[in-house]
Amino acid sequence: MDEHHIQNLTPFLHSRACAPRPFVAGHDVRCGFRIRLRILELPRVTPSRTTPVPLRTAGVFSHGDAAHLAGAFRIAVSRLRLHPSCRALFEELGADGEELLAGSLYVRAGSHHETQICGRRVAAFTAIGSPVTRLCRNFRRLDAEQAALILLHEALHFAGLPEAPHEPEAPTSQEINQLVAAGCGL
Ligand SMILES: [Zn+2]
Repeated sequence: MDEHHIQNLTPFLHSRACAPRPFVAGHDVRCGFRIRLRILELPRVTPSRTTPVPLRTAGVFSHGDAAHLAGAFRIAVSRLRLHPSCRALFEELGADGEELLAGSLYVRAGSHHETQICGRRVAAFTAIGSPVTRLCRNFRRLDAEQAALILLHEALHFAGLPEAPHEPEAPTSQEINQLVAAGCGL
């Protein structure tokens, strides 16, 4: 896939609504998006905003974890600004990626989340439509770019993107990661 092509997510509503719901485990959320993957040709342009995007956290973060999160967040913002294909992932969902990052709230996963949800393949989780992204202990083990990819992945869920297998028509977690990697140069 060259730089002119990305896979876009084209959601269209079914009968069920996709309303924000209270926080629930993992990606276990269901809402009315059906996802179709397609290839689009996009112009190569790099317009950009320059104002800082605020990072919102709640709860206690160690200095090291806060710095790691801040570094990942800066990369996520910069990739959105640099890559139209990265912004397009959000635009296809009717959302603005920077606004969603600015509206996200990052909190540490609780001990019960660590045992029940976090694991080797889960570094962070959220609920569809929720601004709250919970970071597992192993988030800190990701390098800055991998961590930025995860923040963008979770922001797509905030934008309403569901995930298989909970939503059979939706992309899997790994497919979402691949879309972010390709679209955002991560
Ligand atoms: Zn996910």
